[in-house]
Amino acid sequence: MAHINHHYLKLQAGYLFPEIARRVSVFSREHPDARVIRMGIGDVTEPLPPAVIEAMRCAVDEMARGDTFKGYGPEQGYPWLREAIAEHDYAARGCRVDADEIFISDGSKCDTGNILDILAPTTTSGNVIAVQDPVYPVYVDTNVMAGNTGPADERGEYAGLVYLRADRDNGFVAPLPDRPVDVVYLCFPNNPTGAVADRDTLARWVEYAREHDALILFDAAYEAFITDPTIPHSIYEIDGAREVAIEFRSFSKNAGFTGTRCAFTVVPRELTGTTPDGEQVDLHRLWLRRQTTRFNGVSYIVQRGAEAVYSADGREQTAGLIRFYLENARLIREALSEQGLEVYGGVNAPYVWVRTPEGEDSWGFFDRLLDEAHVVGTPGSGFGRAGEGYFRLSAFNSRANVEEALKRIGRMNLAVGRA
Ligand code: PLP
Repeated sequence: MAHINHHYLKLQAGYLFPEIARRVSVFSREHPDARVIRMGIGDVTEPLPPAVIEAMRCAVDEMARGDTFKGYGPEQGYPWLREAIAEHDYAARGCRVDADEIFISDGSKCDTGNILDILAPTTTSGNVIAVQDPVYPVYVDTNVMAGNTGPADERGEYAGLVYLRADRDNGFVAPLPDRPVDVVYLCFPNNPTGAVADRDTLARWVEYAREHDALILFDAAYEAFITDPTIPHSIYEIDGAREVAIEFRSFSKNAGFTGTRCAFTVVPRELTGTTPDGEQVDLHRLWLRRQTTRFNGVSYIVQRGAEAVYSADGREQTAGLIRFYLENARLIREALSEQGLEVYGGVNAPYVWVRTPEGEDSWGFFDRLLDEAHVVGTPGSGFGRAGEGYFRLSAFNSRANVEEALKRIGRMNLAVGRA
């Protein structure tokens, strides 16, 4: 008899995006002529930068010749890509990250889940795990799958997890936990709220982690959207972070790699975790072991494409993509503010976080937007309890779609909700 991982059965059936898809499909069936504009899922729409395409074409040609063909590459990634990242993403910002501390992967989604492989289950270790609320659902669900939580309650919150509420009173930057935690997921610029953490906030987190021997899992998938020069792009810009933090980065949102797949995870050599006997063990060694055993690397062609993101042309073209999406965000922000809505994010992030009209909850607003404007967004409540009463609009779209969506939303009465 094959026993299953019964923790999967605790996962909430109505995961956010399937439920959105279901409602949109019902609507489209009933209104076959309506052209629905999707501003919900955070997937990029613009093509890969020409420098990336060119590098991948050259790599394909290399694969076509016997003398330049590549088979398996290093599981951790090719040295030239790791070195380009160390130079441009870290040394250029004054932080020390060595190339061999960078592990190339096929996605930050995978790595933020996979990282649990090198941490003890909470049932045997007592690790206390904290997430921000609202939260990128992957952090929560992967902990549920790993057996690190109890069942969900009626509001969808899992027993055992510590939820750090981010709301407008704290500027959508969750406070430090009021009890000791061992692992904390931080995501800045934040999905879904678009909030960023300034240097003092990150320094407080690093200090907390050092004091409590905690591990920070820092997801910087959206760092390229930071426009404010005072906001750190990496947790390693903070002194002492190398001893307490793992950082996740991705080419998905800066260079349009959502379908191409390339990301990386930084595990500094100073970082340690504790064995059941209280011994300190190097996490870099464990992650290397994990990756070389379970992963066979990202394709050569894709890594050549990622390397081109750091070329002079690649950097200029990538900056152009970011500017394009941020201009979409600005248009969304301004249009909704003019209609009297409270709007957050969208300045250093591709997400605009909107407070729903008075008396209207997240799903109520979702339905009204779909019914009246044929526009799909993401209900904030899908990201956690603190997301109730909010709505996420993504700036990842064509300009024509953004303008059309805003025109339609402009005809709605958003001053008051239905309820
Ligand atoms: N981290 C956050 C916070 C995200 O919002 C996303 C995607 O939406 C990811 C990671 C996924 O990144 P990747 O495409 O590298 O798997």
